[in-house]
Amino acid sequence: MKAIRFHQHGGPEVLRYEDAPEPELASGEVLVRVRACALNHLDLWERRGLPNVRIPMPHISGSDVAGEIVASAAPDVAIGRRVMLQPGVSCGRCAACLSGKDNECPHYEVLGYIHHPGGCAELVKVPVQNLVSIPDDIDFVQAAAFPLTFLTAWHMLMTRARLQRGEDVLVLAAGSGVGQAAIQIAFLHGARVFATAGSEEKLARAQALGAYEVIHHHQQDIAEEIRRLTNRRGVDVVIEHVGEATWTKSVRALARGGRLVTCGATTGGNGALDLTALFARQLTILGSYMGTKGELMRAARFFFAGQLKPVVDRTFPLEEAAAAHQRMEASGQFGKIVLNVP
Ligand SMILES: [Zn+2]
Repeated sequence: MKAIRFHQHGGPEVLRYEDAPEPELASGEVLVRVRACALNHLDLWERRGLPNVRIPMPHISGSDVAGEIVASAAPDVAIGRRVMLQPGVSCGRCAACLSGKDNECPHYEVLGYIHHPGGCAELVKVPVQNLVSIPDDIDFVQAAAFPLTFLTAWHMLMTRARLQRGEDVLVLAAGSGVGQAAIQIAFLHGARVFATAGSEEKLARAQALGAYEVIHHHQQDIAEEIRRLTNRRGVDVVIEHVGEATWTKSVRALARGGRLVTCGATTGGNGALDLTALFARQLTILGSYMGTKGELMRAARFFFAGQLKPVVDRTFPLEEAAAAHQRMEASGQFGKIVLNVP
């Protein structure tokens, strides 16, 4: 099969479009013909290399996949079925998995990250429990743009922060995958959404997705703007994934009793915390990583009903993966960058 692989870490130039062996199915696994695969920041980090993470080479990344089933080593699987894939792979038999918290499984891993070759290829294999059927009116590009970011944002808002109707939510970086998903999920659940972005065009698009007020994060102070817009109260929930560059402002934007949920640190992992503010203002800091298989299925019902719509920035053919990585690294995108696999 054709695949995008890298044999060493580095810039986009290490990505090679080349022949790779087809995946061999073990019992309980299903082979999927990839039709579309969306990029995430994880793809960039894998390619660049991460401290203390050894990625076997050559490597195929890609965590967000949609396609058709072409072979199965699991019973009762219809060949030809259109599916999108759960991006989290877990053991399925530990206490966490059996409690419906598979993203807390000690063996949890994101598809395409280390040991599970990903979807930047013509074929990918996954355990049968990672399949989610998609209706005929949802195209593969839309389906590939949905799983990882909507799952992440759903887990942050609904499970970790326990969002309530009528609450105020601040979503950082509206143009990012998690940002556009969080705005839509929070709006859908009756929250008043404040969103930040780095250009007028992105701010307008954030409002079109449901943001009530927007903040230009290069020209305005996020915490001060939030205080002004909320009559000095602050927001109930902050959706943070930027890290060092915004951390202090994100904490300062919280109302008394507010919750900050973080799922990433794109600009760096060091954030200071004023412990006096933490206890006196009764703040809660929550970590969040991916989400459970059940949560993705619940979120997908809103997707299939047209109430959640993944935003696709643009598509590239699979062989132009390097150009797709470059676009993502330049931060010019609004929404998901998706590779088309013809
Ligand atoms: Zn497990």
